[in-house]
Amino acid sequence: MNRTENLAQLADSATLSEANRTSLLPQRIHEVFLPWSAINANHIALSDSATSLTYGALPGVVDAVAAHLAEAGVRPGDRVLLVAENCVALAVCLLAVSALGAWSVTVNARLSKREIDTFSDHSGARRVLYFHETSSDALTHGQAQDAIEVSWTGIGALLLGPLNTAAIAEAHETDTARQVAVMVYTSGTTGAPKAVMLTQKNLLFIGNNSGQVRRLTPVDTVYGVLPLSHVYGLSALLVASLMAGAHLHLVPRFVAADLARALAEDGITVLHGAPAMFVRLIEYASEAGISLKAPRLRVVQSGGAPLTLPLKTAFEKTFGLVLHNGYGMTEASPSICQTRLDTPRLDCSVGQAIPGIEVRLDNSMSGTAGSVTADEVGDKVGELWVCGPNIMKGYYRAPELTAQTITADGWLMTGDLARIEADGAIFIVGRSKELIIRSGFNVYPVEVEQVLNAHPDVLHSAVVGREVNGNEEVIAFIETRHGSALDRTALNQFLKNNLSPYKIPAEIIVLAHLPAAPTGKILKHELRLLAAGRT
Ligand code: AMP
Repeated sequence: MNRTENLAQLADSATLSEANRTSLLPQRIHEVFLPWSAINANHIALSDSATSLTYGALPGVVDAVAAHLAEAGVRPGDRVLLVAENCVALAVCLLAVSALGAWSVTVNARLSKREIDTFSDHSGARRVLYFHETSSDALTHGQAQDAIEVSWTGIGALLLGPLNTAAIAEAHETDTARQVAVMVYTSGTTGAPKAVMLTQKNLLFIGNNSGQVRRLTPVDTVYGVLPLSHVYGLSALLVASLMAGAHLHLVPRFVAADLARALAEDGITVLHGAPAMFVRLIEYASEAGISLKAPRLRVVQSGGAPLTLPLKTAFEKTFGLVLHNGYGMTEASPSICQTRLDTPRLDCSVGQAIPGIEVRLDNSMSGTAGSVTADEVGDKVGELWVCGPNIMKGYYRAPELTAQTITADGWLMTGDLARIEADGAIFIVGRSKELIIRSGFNVYPVEVEQVLNAHPDVLHSAVVGREVNGNEEVIAFIETRHGSALDRTALNQFLKNNLSPYKIPAEIIVLAHLPAAPTGKILKHELRLLAAGRT
């Protein structure tokens, strides 16, 4: 049987044994939709507010865009930076880059120029593509780089940055467990850019797993507002939907009113979002005096940040549906735990480990001190370690950093503190890493501190998180340079020029001296209490 026949058999048979199903699974992300293209050609695969593509049309468009990329000088093993907000063209380019054996580097267009330039340099990107039709930020970034407008078959206009003739293609790997499909940047605790290399196998494993756990089928319409530039959107929305033959509707930015309307009118059946999104949806309905309706919605999952009981209760009361929880991290492609449809939880457990991976708790507290101190860690709580086909290949060009995160025998040290109940339900109780999660987006304090410290009026700074209404705010404490009068307007503009909006501190507090231990280490625990006391 050839590959297409294999895939058609896979699509056709819901009754295959798990072993047979696994042996028939596609090998690379641009193959996942092929069975559905053969048997469900008129069904919509991808849409956004302006365009839609059927399963029948998708293979031709992906091939055509792959040919455009090759003409633009992209070779197997090259990195291609995709600066975008969610749209059909971005999804197609991700698949086309995979078809060429190149690596997509997905970047949210809402990041600052400094951040995007850093990623472009660090990845050694051969080309940068800007999806300006659906993102004014992408337009601004593209114009700043003198990108030229091109029109590509099936996806229309985009901006193509100059060819980087110095880019060196990575060696082509034939083993899909080693072949990188996508790189995702996280800034990490050192402030230096960290690019997570995710392989074809990583993404297919989570795409398949997510689809199975959430029982995705062709009758589903999935609301795609989580960015494809984050691996949650990429694997659990894009790959999972296309693998299941479902319709993924892509949305560039979260707007509560748009989501409320789509739930009521567009037949959305599956919704994934960060807790802050659900908070805002409910707030919007109460402010606008409307009652939220979602006649076809069947699965809703919160992920990316801690879910609180008041939010879970309010959501479930509003919609009469369970608000499921899922936990993961970029380095795990990202899923690690999910609550199950058949055993809904009344609490905020992140559920059991997903099928096919192993988890365990480590009590050696290898991480840096973060939101939970060692004293609070009892014998039932430890750092969550994960092992399985979802674990990244490593950080790009950073073997030492990789070795600090993945043990020699393949366990990813998450930096999250957890306890596990007898039935396998996992509770995330804190972090041993310094991470603030603002509306589902990660903010590493050190990155904000580095930008603040670069301002001429700032002597030094310390950034902490403050909990507010199911979310976290970024709070900065600074010491000004002797004799300098702080110009807050200039400082705010400086931050805007150098940081994405979600990383900009909600409050900047000037102290005569930052509290420090005799070693000089800033006492962030004290600053966290100080920040909490000001609400
Ligand atoms: P990212 O790499 O952007 O996916 O961020 C991963 C981090 O987000 C994890 O290490 C956790 O600290 C946090 N996180 C993700 N999902 C959850 C959740 N459901 N509950 C609590 N924390 C979460």
